[in-house]
Amino acid sequence: MDLLEYQGKQLFREHGVPTQDGQPAQTAQEAVEAAEELGYPVVIKAQVLIGGRGKAGGIKVANDRQEAREHAEGILGMDIRGFPVRELYVEKASDIAEEYYAAILLDRGAKQPMAMLSRMGGMDVEEIAGRDPNAIARVHVDSLIGFQDFHGRRLCFEAGIAGDVTRPVGALLARLYETFVAEDAMLVEVNPLLVTEARDVVALDAKVTVDGNALFRHPDVAAMRNPSAEDLQEQMARERGLTYVKLDGNIGVLGNGAGLVMSTLDVVAQAGGRPANFLDAGGGSKAEAIVGAVEVILSDPKVDAVLFNIFGGITRCDEVARGLVTAFGQIDVKVPFVVRLDGTNDEEGRSIIAEANLDGVDVEKTMLGAAARVVERANVGAPEPPETGEHPKPVGAATPGTGAASQADVSGTEVAAAEAGGGGGAPTAPGAEPTR
Ligand code: ADP
Ligand code: MG
Repeated sequence: MDLLEYQGKQLFREHGVPTQDGQPAQTAQEAVEAAEELGYPVVIKAQVLIGGRGKAGGIKVANDRQEAREHAEGILGMDIRGFPVRELYVEKASDIAEEYYAAILLDRGAKQPMAMLSRMGGMDVEEIAGRDPNAIARVHVDSLIGFQDFHGRRLCFEAGIAGDVTRPVGALLARLYETFVAEDAMLVEVNPLLVTEARDVVALDAKVTVDGNALFRHPDVAAMRNPSAEDLQEQMARERGLTYVKLDGNIGVLGNGAGLVMSTLDVVAQAGGRPANFLDAGGGSKAEAIVGAVEVILSDPKVDAVLFNIFGGITRCDEVARGLVTAFGQIDVKVPFVVRLDGTNDEEGRSIIAEANLDGVDVEKTMLGAAARVVERANVGAPEPPETGEHPKPVGAATPGTGAASQADVSGTEVAAAEAGGGGGAPTAPGAEPTR
């Protein structure tokens, strides 16, 4: 789950990462009041779950009451690359001597946290890495010993940080690491990490991604969830208690059990298709769960066909079939469905579907046959042929149940992680760690 800048900074403060004073605001009036209290100049900052707000005009300096109101009114309601601005953060303006980049993230490849530091802050990390791969210093941290002074010194030395601020920068990194561990974060990123004219070191921006599966340990962070900023399908799935991960293809996939759904994604890819999602309806899927799952899948406008793959163990195929018939009665289904039912009561299940005579529903006996058929059905009228054999790429969370964390969308930490041998560029297949 991604946090807004001001929420991330709240965690920073709790763990001693230095930040500027600031206050969130929901309306222009609140923003003006916050600015008056903080004292001018202030910076009015759009709070959206995407980076590059500065370039998009979502960050403005205000020198007086009038300007604070104008900028707040201008920024509220703006659309920053598909993210509408509903909240602001009003922060004391800093003078800027240097802008660095700092991050702690989980390097999945190395199975260790990794700290990164660069002198070239302010821009996208892809851009920094693109200009000069050596511009980003990296160090892995052994979780048992934690972040030590030498880690900070080494990063500062390798990144070429100004000598007079290596101590405060190192200290900030140690606090950042503490935030990362204590809050069960997957990423904490500070860009820019500011050095002021007075040589104070401050986190000027905050991007924090916490592990959605650890939220039960952090009720205060769980309360920061930003439902309006979440992907619609992921939000619907969470409300219905379904494990859903959005992917970037056009074939909706529904199955029971994380392992079966993962295999289904593979066979769809093998048949030349691209799955639109991972959706595990769980074991013993009852009719209402099926209705809910079908609603979630069909609410994604990219879906051209749906593969329904059930292997009945505890789950009874006749019950699932009834669920599907009920779903078709309740929802206006406009895309073809391919259904494969196997296992407990599969014969009954198939005859229920045959008797219901549902429009656009094909029944297939085998998983491979069903995959081939759904790819065929999805491609009728589809503009582009799919790329054969490509594996599905998660668009949002790398693991089911982590909410709408879309690192890839935001500030490109992916690149650095991938370079370091981490899983950033090739996220873990959905369902690799099924928890529910
Ligand atoms: P984003 O990364 O989304 O563009 P940032 O918070 O990094 O947003 O802000 C973009 C730029 O705006 C920063 O690099 C910095 O130059 C400027 N800025 C942000 N906050 C402040 C502040 N409190 N005081 C002065 N300048 C700021
Ligand atoms: Mg930034």
